[in-house]
Amino acid sequence: MRRLINADKGLVLLATAPHQGLKTLTTVMFNTADRFTRDFSGVEDVQKPYEVIENITTTKYDSAKGETPMKVLPDVFFKEPKVLLIRDMVDLESWKLCCEEVNNDRLIITTVRSADAVSAIINVLSQGVDATLFANAITSVITQRLVRRLCEDCKEEVEVTNPQIIQAFKLDPKHPKWFVKHIHEPVAEGERDYYVPCTDCRDIGYKGRVAVFDVLEINDEIRQIIAADVDLASKEAALRKKAAESGQEGYWVDGKRLVREGVTDYDEMRRVMAENQTRRPTPQKRPAS
Ligand SMILES: [Zn+2]
Repeated sequence: MRRLINADKGLVLLATAPHQGLKTLTTVMFNTADRFTRDFSGVEDVQKPYEVIENITTTKYDSAKGETPMKVLPDVFFKEPKVLLIRDMVDLESWKLCCEEVNNDRLIITTVRSADAVSAIINVLSQGVDATLFANAITSVITQRLVRRLCEDCKEEVEVTNPQIIQAFKLDPKHPKWFVKHIHEPVAEGERDYYVPCTDCRDIGYKGRVAVFDVLEINDEIRQIIAADVDLASKEAALRKKAAESGQEGYWVDGKRLVREGVTDYDEMRRVMAENQTRRPTPQKRPAS
C-alpha cells in the first residue's frame, strides 16, 4: 500500500462500505505517504471538513452555494501539485479533469463508498464517468473492512479438526489450534454455574476493531475490461472472474493471518464478509448522455 500511495502518477481509489472507517483509511494512507518531497494539494467541501493532514494545502469549495470541486480544481492544477487528494468527487466534470491530469504525471487520490475493490470501480463507472478515460487513469483500488478484535482476557484456544480449514489457514498440522470468542457452556439443570463473565469486554468476547484490506492493482487486462463497451453487470462479472483467476483472495489474505494469529476469529471474519456482501449497492444504469 505504501508503494501504491507513493507512485509517481495514477489514480488511486480508497473505498469502504458505510461505517467501515473511510476517514481513518484516508488519514492513515496519507500519513504513510511521502508528503515532504512531493507537492501535495487537497480539495474539500467546506460543508464536510476533515481533520487537517500535515503538509497538505487544502483549497475549499462550498456545496451549500451550489459549488462543485470544479470551482477550484483548474486553479489547483495550475499550481502543478504532484499529488491531489479530493475526497468527494461529486460530478462528471471533476472526474474528467482529474483523469486527464494523471497524464501530466500527477497522482490523484479519491474516495468511494464501496464494499470491495471491484464494486468501487463499478460505482465510479455507474456515475457516468467515461470508461476509456477512467481505465487509462486508474492504477489501484484499496478497500477496507473492520473486524472486531478478540478480547485478550477471555479468548479461548481450541483445536481445529477440519483438514481443509487447517490447510487453508496454514495452521500447524501437528497442533492445529486457533483462538475463538469465549464459550459459555450451559450447565445441566440443578447444577451450579461457576462461569464468571469477563469484565474487560463486558462478556461480548470482542474488544476494539482492526482493519482488513483488499488491494487491487490495475494491470492491462483489467484496464481492457474497464474500458470495454459492455453493460456494467457484464463488466462487473468479468472483473470478478479475472480477480478470481489471478487467485485474488481479497480480504481473506489479511483475515486468515489475523485468525491464525488469534487477533480475531473465523466466525467474526465470516460475519463481516457476509454482512457487507448484502450491503453492496447495486450498480445503476449509465445515464444517457
Ligand atoms: Zn473478555
